[in-house]
Amino acid sequence: MDLSHPDKLLWPEAGVTKQGLLDHYAAVWPRMERFVVNRPLALLRAPDGIAGKQRFFQKHASPGMHEAIVKMADPEDGEELLYIKDFNGIAALVQIGVVEIHIWGCTIDAIDTPDQIVFDLDPDEGLDMNDVLAATLDVRRRLDELGLPNVVKTSGGKGFHVIVPLKPKADWKTVKTFAHDFAEAMEQSDPDKYTATLSKKARTGRIFIDYLRNARGSTTVAPYSSRAKPNATVSMPVTWPEVENGVGPADFSIGGKPLEKALKTADPWADFNKLRKALRG
Ligand code: ATP
Ligand code: MN
Ligand code: MN
Repeated sequence: MDLSHPDKLLWPEAGVTKQGLLDHYAAVWPRMERFVVNRPLALLRAPDGIAGKQRFFQKHASPGMHEAIVKMADPEDGEELLYIKDFNGIAALVQIGVVEIHIWGCTIDAIDTPDQIVFDLDPDEGLDMNDVLAATLDVRRRLDELGLPNVVKTSGGKGFHVIVPLKPKADWKTVKTFAHDFAEAMEQSDPDKYTATLSKKARTGRIFIDYLRNARGSTTVAPYSSRAKPNATVSMPVTWPEVENGVGPADFSIGGKPLEKALKTADPWADFNKLRKALRG
């Protein structure tokens, strides 16, 4: 499909247009596709650009959406869900000014059995980046100890997302309970550093191990999605050695050199499907 107003600036400060966003998705598509197609979506739209007045989170269809954004009914409650099947779907999202693509942790054909666990590390304001990196590596060490596979991506904002690739066997309750227990175990072993409680107060000087991404209907920003930040950052899959070497959560952005360079090296998540393991429960 053709974009209308391809020169419209979605990120005025970074100089990224609708066409620029579509070009980004074309470049990352071979790596991104399997993480975004056939999954329920939530969309952050900014039709007038990220500095514009209109900015809203959307889970349901609205008039004027191209048919490449497909509707389905949630088998549980009949609620309308949206998903895309292919790159045309991405173009349709860009067309309506979607600046962030968020995904459920499951596919549409196995909606009650998540195929990933997400640990979203949310540092309190002003926390030292070395503490955030150390916490991310701590999540990895603990998962390794449990024999659970893990990969990591930048959030494009303030933290990192550690993902456990799952075989879709256990249900949402089992997965969420596991993630909650995991976060609480981190808090218990290091209460000065970590909290498993959402409140701002509990987070003071700490990192919230956000396990809440693992509920049915919860979403996480998709790998390679742009973020609605002035410099057009991207949530970028990275290697564990990059985390050890101090990569920053906002280091990758559309049109930036680090992203360009990363796409010329091996895909850090290439083995995602091979790594999948069933969570016992
Ligand atoms: P950061 O590193 O800055 O924390 P993040 O993407 O992890 O970046 P969070 O605030 O930790 O941001 O997570 C917000 C989560 O809540 C997202 O994963 C998103 O899918 C979900 N979400 C639910 N409703 C909304 C909304 N109205 N606006 C934005 N995100 C929403
Ligand atoms: Mn976060
Ligand atoms: Mn969070």
